[in-house]
Amino acid sequence: MRLRNVPGSRDVIAESPYTIKDETTRKGTWGEIFGNDNPIYIEIGMGKGQFIMELARSNPDKNYVGIEKYSSVLVRALEKQDEEQFPNIYFIRMEAEYIADVFAENEVAGIYLNFSDPWPKDRHAKRRLTSVQFLERYDRILAPEGHIVFKTDNRELFDFSLEQVEMADKWELLNHTYDLHNSPYVTGNVMTEYETRFVAKGNPICRMEICRRESW
Ligand code: SAH
Repeated sequence: MRLRNVPGSRDVIAESPYTIKDETTRKGTWGEIFGNDNPIYIEIGMGKGQFIMELARSNPDKNYVGIEKYSSVLVRALEKQDEEQFPNIYFIRMEAEYIADVFAENEVAGIYLNFSDPWPKDRHAKRRLTSVQFLERYDRILAPEGHIVFKTDNRELFDFSLEQVEMADKWELLNHTYDLHNSPYVTGNVMTEYETRFVAKGNPICRMEICRRESW
């Protein structure tokens, strides 16, 4: 994500009724925040929110939480939300490393990771959102039958992610493709900002879906 400082974005986030500020005190209370018991889906690294806001629009019976570490990016999603006012979405500005402090065990029905930062240096591998370290964090919040769906155009990051799933005994690869837009999984696909850009450039998009192994 190209970073341009957006003056005042921290204030906008602090004042928005759609952002959760004291997120580490909200563990286990998300049903109260939304005012219903609908399942909660999260996108980690949502950028400007195109994908998750489209999901919120088309699935009013599901709840969504968009997570993004940079204020300057998150503020763009808040601008859209000011117009749309979807009742089934909230946003958090946070570093995803602390995700298990924000949601309780089983509180999350599904996790989306779209075009996550590649962290190409080996010594930064554990920062990748599909590393075994992050899979362990997701394991602490995701419902037993919950899925994680990951899309990227970065083949190295995708291959790394496939390896991590294999290494983490708890997880099972449900399906994967190296070319989403020429695969059956494209049915119902919701495009992200990055995906729109990369598809226009002709880059194939990789996608995988994982869940817990039955034996766990
Ligand atoms: N999902 C969007 C944006 C992809 S760019 C899309 O597909 O269009 C990746 C985004 O993830 C950036 O906005 C970046 O700031 C955010 N991000 C990366 N690592 C993160 C982390 N550890 N915690 C929270 N957000 C993160």
